[in-house]
Order: sequence, then C-alpha cells, then structure tokens
Amino acid sequence: MASVVFEDVSKKFADFIAVNDLNLTIDDGEFLVFVGPSGCGKTTSLRMLAGLEDISQGSIYIGDKRVNDVPPKDRDIAMVFQSYALYPHMSVYENMAFSLELQGKRKGEIKTHVESAAKQLGIDHLLYRKPKELSGGQRQRVAVGRAIVRNPAVFLMDEPLSNLDAKLRVQARAEINKLHNELGTTFIYVTHDQVEAMTMGSRIAVMNHGVLQQIDTPEKLYNYPNNVFVAGFIGSPAMNFFEAKLISKEDNLYVKTDSFELHIPPDKALFYQHYSGEEVIFGIRPENIHDPDYIPPDIRPASIKATVSVTEMMGNEIIVYLTTPSNHEFIARVDPRSRMTVGQSISVAFDRSQFHLFDKHSQQTIT
Ligand code: ATP
Repeated sequence: MASVVFEDVSKKFADFIAVNDLNLTIDDGEFLVFVGPSGCGKTTSLRMLAGLEDISQGSIYIGDKRVNDVPPKDRDIAMVFQSYALYPHMSVYENMAFSLELQGKRKGEIKTHVESAAKQLGIDHLLYRKPKELSGGQRQRVAVGRAIVRNPAVFLMDEPLSNLDAKLRVQARAEINKLHNELGTTFIYVTHDQVEAMTMGSRIAVMNHGVLQQIDTPEKLYNYPNNVFVAGFIGSPAMNFFEAKLISKEDNLYVKTDSFELHIPPDKALFYQHYSGEEVIFGIRPENIHDPDYIPPDIRPASIKATVSVTEMMGNEIIVYLTTPSNHEFIARVDPRSRMTVGQSISVAFDRSQFHLFDKHSQQTIT
C-alpha cells in the first residue's frame, strides 16, 4: 500500500498544456476518482503516474519514492485499461498468470494467486477460456483479476467500465467498491461519468482544461462546489444557472434576473450582503424547484413564473423542462404526483434557502 503525491506536475504536448500545475495528495488506501469532461487531462495524469508518459515539470511520489525516472514495471502499480488489453491468444489463467511469470514466481505460487483472485471475482469457472469466449463483463473482471494477482501498492483504472451496458456498469461499480474495501489498497480511477465518480470515490478530483478545480468528498462537491464549473458538472440533471444582480431594498437582499426577483431569507442574506450591487450567477438544483401543489413542508418557497415545455416521467419523480417569460430554460425534478402538462403556464416554487451564488466574472462561489 502507498500514498501518491503529485507536486507541481505539468504535462505539455508541444505548446499544448494538457495538465497544468497539478498538486494533489492521495492517501494510503484511499479511493480517489479523477473526473472531468473529455480532454481535461485526467488520463494524462494517470499515465504520468503509471510511467507511460513523461512528466514535463514537477514530481510524482509513490510512497516516499520520487518516481519521475522509475520505469513503469518498477513502480509497484497495476493498471486496468478501458480496452482491458487482454492477450487474445492466451487463456484467462495465462492472462492472469503472465505478469507473475515475468516476475519469476514459482508455478505453485502463481496458481495459488490466480485461483484466489479468480474466486474473489467469480471467474474461477472461466480460467481455461480465451477472451473471445467471454462476455464484456467477464472480460472486465479478467482485466481486474490480472491487476489483483500482482498485489500492487496502487491500482490505476482508466474508464474500466465504459464498454459495459448500463445495468452491468452499476453492478461492476459495486464490485469494484467491494474489492477496494476488501483489499484496502490505494485505488485511483479515471472516468468522465460524474455518477460513477460520486458512487465510487472516497474523494473526487474534478478537472477541467488541465486544471484541478476541486478535490473533495462527494457530499462536499455536491453541496459546496467551489465554482460554476464544478456546480454544473456534478449532479444530474445539472444545476440551473441564471445571470443575476444582487440588490438591496429596505434592508432586504434580492436576486434579480430578467425573469424574476427572489427575496433571500435574512439568515442567508447576512453572507451575501457584501456583494450587494454586484453581478452574480444564481444557481439552483432541479430538486430545489417544486410543483406548487406539492411543496415540501420545510422549505421557504418563492413563486417563479414559467411555461412547461417537456415532462419526463421517471417513476419516482418527474423531470420538467421549463422556460421563463424571458426565454431562459431550466429544469425541475418534481413530485411524481404532479399534473404539470406541456404548454401550461405555472408558478413553480424555488426553495429560497437552497441556492448557490457565484461571482459573474471569476465564476467562483461567493463566500
Ligand atoms: P478522455 O476522457 O477523452 O480520455 P482525458 O481527460 O482523459 O479525456 P487526456 O487524454 O488526458 O484527456 O488528454 C488531455 C489533452 O491532451 C487532450 O486535449 C488531448 O488531445 C491531449 N493529448 C493527449 N495525449 C496527447 C499526445 N500524445 N499528443 C498531443 N496531445 C495529446
């Protein structure tokens, strides 16, 4: 087991900066997920850690050892790739045994390791099949099995579930979580899927354009995003944003957009008073917007006029797409008993105590 440290790490491809001054400490035994949109630099960060990509600037440590110049095979890591990279001509057993043979382990020892890992992953009945005789889910487990047998200090996984269908992915997600609990080893996992990140990581590092935006627990990222990017990236459907101005009238503070004016409750206004007169971005999550007929008892609602453009019945909730009179679109997740219909003009209820405010220019959360 080992901790991992990125210290002032940057990666340049010619003039293009793929990773920009990354500073990050991953604790021993932690499950850290890198998440962000395509091209944000998460795979490059993982590949630098694995030794598959040179580091342009900075240092990477595994345990106490600076590994910048250590070859991949000596870094005590195992990587599971999106493509699984199984050897097609070898059986499952041979695929799993291969790296142990390279290490010069004895036959009996290899057999014990492979059989025990196969049992742990529920693939012990498949050991003598070739990869082409396996389902996608089984191949994915073999790829994980091949990493486990090496008993590495750090597991690296790059989108290992992206080739699975939605149902299998949910199951495999739980299996990888379980595996992490059983092994207690440091796991570093890359995905572009924020749901995967939220359900797997003990902490999540959100990246955008090569820059680490925030590293936090799933709860903190969701409830206390640092900036507009994180707020919009984490959560599905995404947070709604409105350009707005904070205004004071007779000791009261309001968020004024071109569609509505929302009174901020006095206890919350205390935090934002210093921003009065400034341009801001007002953010509210879909679950904090309610059907006026089904307003939860504990909220402080504000009536906002809108027209219903689409409704999607999800069973346990309805996703409603709405448009303000000034044509700004937003989304609400409302009670499944709601009777909202397409084309209807309605006043939905915004929860006045559940919103986020960001500086319009810096895009940072106002504190
Ligand atoms: P994805 O989810 O699409 O894999 P990512 O966040 O993992 O995206 P990276 O693969 O880390 O992104 O790539 C980051 C940026 O660096 C991208 O703009 C990519 O085009 C660029 N890049 C990656 N590898 C190279 C390379 N070998 N040469 C030039 N540019 C590269």
